[in-house]
Amino acid sequence: MTGPAEGLRKVLDLERSRKFADTAVVGGLDKYLLRFAQDNQLSPAHRFSQVLQALPPGGYRALHPVQRGRFVDELLSAVESDPPVAADPARIIEFPSAARAESPVPVGQRAVFKPPVAPPTQASTAVVGTLDSPVSVLKGVSKATAGKLARLNIRTVEDFLYHFPLRYEEYPPATAIAGLRPGSHQTIIGEVWSAGESVKGGRRRVGEAVVSDKTGSVRLIWWSGPWRANRLREGQRVAFSGKVTAYRGRLQVENPEEGDPDDPSLRTSRIVPVYRGTEGLDQRTILSLKRQSVSGFAHKLEERLPDALRTRLGLPLAPEAMQEVHLPVSLQGAEAGERRFAFEELLTVELGVIKRRREWQAAGGAPTLEMLEAVRGGFIESLPFSLTTAQQRAVDTVLADIAREIPMARLLEGDVGSGKTVVAAAALLAAVAAGYQGVIMAPTEILAEQHLKTLTRLLSPGSEGEDGVWFQETGPGYLTLRPPYLDRPVRVALLRGSLKAAEKSAVRSAIARGDVDIAIGTHALIQGDVEFSRLGLAVVDEQHRFGVEQRAALREKGGTPHVLVMTATPIPRTLALTVYGDLDITVLDEMPPGRPEVKTYRVPPRQRESAYKFVRKKVAEGRQAYIICPLVEESETIETKAAVQEYERLARDVFPDLRLGLLHGRMTPGEKDATMRAFRDAELDILVSTAVVEVGIDVPNATVIMIEGADRFGLTQLHQFRGRVRRSEMQSTCLLLYEEPSEEGEERLRIMESTSDGFKLAEEDLRLRGPGEYFGTRQSGLPDLRVAKLTDVKLIELAKTEATGILDEDPRLERPEYAALRSEVNRLWDRLSAEVS
Ligand code: ADP
Ligand code: MG
Repeated sequence: MTGPAEGLRKVLDLERSRKFADTAVVGGLDKYLLRFAQDNQLSPAHRFSQVLQALPPGGYRALHPVQRGRFVDELLSAVESDPPVAADPARIIEFPSAARAESPVPVGQRAVFKPPVAPPTQASTAVVGTLDSPVSVLKGVSKATAGKLARLNIRTVEDFLYHFPLRYEEYPPATAIAGLRPGSHQTIIGEVWSAGESVKGGRRRVGEAVVSDKTGSVRLIWWSGPWRANRLREGQRVAFSGKVTAYRGRLQVENPEEGDPDDPSLRTSRIVPVYRGTEGLDQRTILSLKRQSVSGFAHKLEERLPDALRTRLGLPLAPEAMQEVHLPVSLQGAEAGERRFAFEELLTVELGVIKRRREWQAAGGAPTLEMLEAVRGGFIESLPFSLTTAQQRAVDTVLADIAREIPMARLLEGDVGSGKTVVAAAALLAAVAAGYQGVIMAPTEILAEQHLKTLTRLLSPGSEGEDGVWFQETGPGYLTLRPPYLDRPVRVALLRGSLKAAEKSAVRSAIARGDVDIAIGTHALIQGDVEFSRLGLAVVDEQHRFGVEQRAALREKGGTPHVLVMTATPIPRTLALTVYGDLDITVLDEMPPGRPEVKTYRVPPRQRESAYKFVRKKVAEGRQAYIICPLVEESETIETKAAVQEYERLARDVFPDLRLGLLHGRMTPGEKDATMRAFRDAELDILVSTAVVEVGIDVPNATVIMIEGADRFGLTQLHQFRGRVRRSEMQSTCLLLYEEPSEEGEERLRIMESTSDGFKLAEEDLRLRGPGEYFGTRQSGLPDLRVAKLTDVKLIELAKTEATGILDEDPRLERPEYAALRSEVNRLWDRLSAEVS
């Protein structure tokens, strides 16, 4: 048996296996059978029709199960003895004769799943506007829709075009309902039997419909709500595409999209893009707006890639590529289109960073800071510890860099506690020894203070506890160090925010006169109106985004200094190749010896009490603890409130006998500093804090860190928190508390437990969250790439190679074929500097 008869047999067999409960087809067997007779044009004289007509008024349901069995047998034998003609299920899908013509499908309509009614958004009349026009120029974009798009950061038509699909789904050609198989996306064409809503799980309203064709019927379900089902009319012929699933042995189509049943593209397999949407903005609307914007605007896209380059790399033209991205004919086409835009974007970034870097270095003019071997040896000998191999390497590299006239632009990257400061100290010493000034900039005053302390320790060994032997306070803000291996004193000034105005200006003028060798302060203080007399080296601590502009600003402050940027944020390779492409990178991938790894444990809610007990025990042993209770994605006000509450609860109910301090983002820098100082000086046992607790703060006696809601944080941030307690030979502990972690959150906690390798964590983090999140969106200073993925190393490398080649030939991008790229590079840079300042 083939065709319709086969479909019928399946239905009847199923009905039999279900003990004639009338559950084989949605909508009931009666309706199905009637339809079958009609569709196959079985005459009233056909035995099938006669068996049907013999049913009592109540229909099939009115029969006793035994009678039902007989009825089904009779129907089957009727069809077997005289099968209906239409045999090939493929032919069931009928197309109007016009559409059947083999003429090529017009561009812009091919392979597009069109809604049955011509949508108001279809570009029947040309849309006017430019790429910069607001999305509201698209037909069908109301104020409300525009608002929803704005939530996706889409404001202009161009933004909308560059809103690329998350992924693509492949739909096979439309199939007969009897041919549906669970597990994939499929398309059917049929008539609506019934449509409406129902309630699931007591309160969830869903849309439901039953659709049939000649081979059977199937239930459709819209989990998002009933509104689409409610719009369908009974008897309406529609195409539906969606995921076919099996539920309790029956097939259903979930969240189907509607389409035009006469669309010829339904005959072929189709690639349908899936976009990131937002509440109230569904795929169907996005898809139809995409069609409109592609047909109305894609041709207006500027072709920025020079022809020769484009052809050599086999990249499609911009308008074509855009069409392929949104209205793909094939998956390969869509991917090629996307790759083209990703490449263009990366090329722009690379051109920018490489160009700036070359300009910075080509200018030359940096002082050659050469250090006598005796001084260098003396410094290394006198250190209270021996350098790790990684530190030695870094010191060698940096000293070699600054001995040249080409200004250094180097990033020193190393996990918290890996000992970056000593590398900076060596370079500062070289600057001073050569008669130049050095500066260290830290993100906060307490860190600046810590640098002063560390420098004192590193440059005047044995001085601690023996006041005045190697150094002396020579006035507010000044200190003079006398390293034994140097033939001159080192005058250090700490530019404190708390200095009186007169003192501040005195320190400033001492720096400007050259009476200060090393100036220490916050970024803000130094970047203010401080002038140097002969600046040789600038060290920028814990600010991974210290870009070209800041370096240029330094240059204005007296000469071209060498710049050393230090960060504890591990930078994955792909980022190092792109946004950090203007810096050379040195990594400290080794911890000083005798620093045990931080023992890390996940703590489920029921073990909270034992976590508190553990903290108490450590405090009793004389140690200190951090309790981090941050919120994610909430405003600072809410976060602060939560932290204050938690602090009060802890102080009142949990640790009433211990000394607790609180740190949050709403405190003034002065208040924060005071609390941090109290903690550093062991006047507090426990520091309760939001996420603000400083990177780089060195409190070796703090050996426990407890992190609330740890499952909601990124790996990098968790690792940064954990780094606060890896500061000494003492065994430290990190407790990760969680409530009900998501799958991903749980994965993160497990990764945290299993590794303390910052780079591994960073790569994982970048993979799990993407770069914006990775650095915390705002401060990142990362260009927010629209298309390219920073995980695509191959494409990044290609872009870098091409950018280098282009700049070798045309360093300033002056040739006409690069004009469009040049202005794009400038645009990107403007945006970056705007974000940084
Ligand atoms: P970070 O890389 O986080 O800035 P620091 O430079 O503050 O790290 O160093 C952290 C601590 O480790 C400091 O107390 C420092 O004196 C100490 N330290 C640095 N290098 C070594 C080493 N090679 N051996 C032992 N201790 C070291
Ligand atoms: Mg540091």
